[in-house]
Order: sequence, then C-alpha cells, then structure tokens
Amino acid sequence: MSALLAVRGLTAGYGSLIVLRDLDFHVDPGEVVVILGANGAGKTTTLRALSGEISGEGTIEFDGRRVDGSRTDQRARLGIGHVPEGRGTFVDLTVEENLRIGAYHRPAAQVRSAMDRAFGLFPTLGERRAQLAGSMSGGEQQMLAVARALMGDPKLLLLDEPSMGLAPMVTAELFRTLAETNERTGTAMLIVEQNAQIALSIADRAYVLGHGQIVSAGTAAEIRADDSIRRAYLGV
Ligand code: ATP
Repeated sequence: MSALLAVRGLTAGYGSLIVLRDLDFHVDPGEVVVILGANGAGKTTTLRALSGEISGEGTIEFDGRRVDGSRTDQRARLGIGHVPEGRGTFVDLTVEENLRIGAYHRPAAQVRSAMDRAFGLFPTLGERRAQLAGSMSGGEQQMLAVARALMGDPKLLLLDEPSMGLAPMVTAELFRTLAETNERTGTAMLIVEQNAQIALSIADRAYVLGHGQIVSAGTAAEIRADDSIRRAYLGV
C-alpha cells in the first residue's frame, strides 16, 4: 500500500530558529497516527508545515503528489483538513454557519449531504445547529471544529492537541467520537497530543518527537509498552 502522506527530510522553523530537523514519517490511508512529545517539542510546528502555514525544506507527498510547494488552500482542496490548536471556531456564528464555512469550496449540492453526515457523526451539533458556537461548551466547540474540517471531505485530518482545555470525561468522549469517525468515514488522522494515554488508545501507530527530531516510532502498543520513552518524553 502506498502512503497517503509521506514526509521526507522535513526541516522547518520560524525565521532563523530551526524547530524541526530532518523528519521522516508517513500516514497510510485510513490510519490514525499520533505524534507525541513534551511541550515545545515541535508538534504544532509539524502540523503547520503540513498544512502549508509555514514553509520548510524536504518533501511532502500527499495522495501521490508533491504538495510542499503549494499553498494552504490548495492543500485543503487536495484533502488535507486541519483542526488547529485553539479550534478556530467562529464564536459569533451558529453551528450551521461554521459548518458551511468548512465546505466553502464544495458545490452547494454536496454541502447538504456533508451537513447530514456531520450531524450523523455529531448528533449534539444537529440539535444545536442554530446555536451560536461561542455559547457552547469547550467539548462541543472541539466537536464543531472537527465536524467543520470534515465538511471539506478530507482524506487526512490534522488535529492539533484536541484535548486542550477539556475535562477528562469530555476528552474521553471526544476521542471515542474521533475513533468512530475514522471507522465510519475512513478519514486518516494525524493527531498531535500531550495526553499520550488517550491518544494511544485510539491510534494505530505513534511517533515521539523530542527537540524537533523523531526519537521513537512504532505501533501504539509498542510505544505504550516502552517505559524509557514514557519516562523521558511523555511524562506518564
Ligand atoms: P506545545 O504543546 O507547547 O504547543 P509543541 O510541541 O506543539 O508544544 P511548537 O508549538 O511546535 O511545540 O513549538 C516548538 C518551538 O517553536 C518552541 O520552542 C516555540 O517557542 C517555537 N515557536 C512556536 N511558534 C513560534 C513562532 N510563531 N515564532 C517563533 N517561534 C515559535
């Protein structure tokens, strides 16, 4: 099987600050892969480089073509959906309006069915379609952010720290919904998380990032079982 996303030699940062050094990793179609690592390891920067918000060196191949030279909106059209840190929800718009924004580049005929699919995956959002996003709980807003990204019918969803600011029970529910979404839609997911435990519980594979380099890679079970990795990089 050829990879959906294949990254080779990715080096990126901010101005003269190099944050990521020579990363190689991949995501297969339909896979759930997590990138774990301590604060400041470069997890968010990795997703930014993939979505095109920052540029870098190295090659990024997505769905059989090079995308490292293309803009964020071009990558989105090709099927890379991004749920950024802090969610990026429009708090003054309703749930339904937020979802429509996620499908802005799709023909009107497809928007309806995408909306129905979103409400099927996230029934609470269906019940609250006319509610302002800003008046919903943190967990509901995170669900909305995921649902909005799915409106673009991505082949790969990039999720930045989805558990951020959520209570443990809400986090558990969110990850259950992510696993179910992956199963029902076949959308591959690349999730960066500090909560290693919960992320590994739904992942097929994991990479551990330390100071901008991949220090370990394996199946979720292998990473979970590796005490030295857990102690050194995951703080669990
Ligand atoms: P966290 O979980 O704290 O968000 P992270 O693993 O996602 O950590 P990044 O946000 O990718 O880490 O940050 C990696 C490094 O890049 C840090 O040293 C950070 O200070 C630096 N950095 C992040 N964003 C910028 C920016 N816009 N300009 C300059 N440096 C940045």
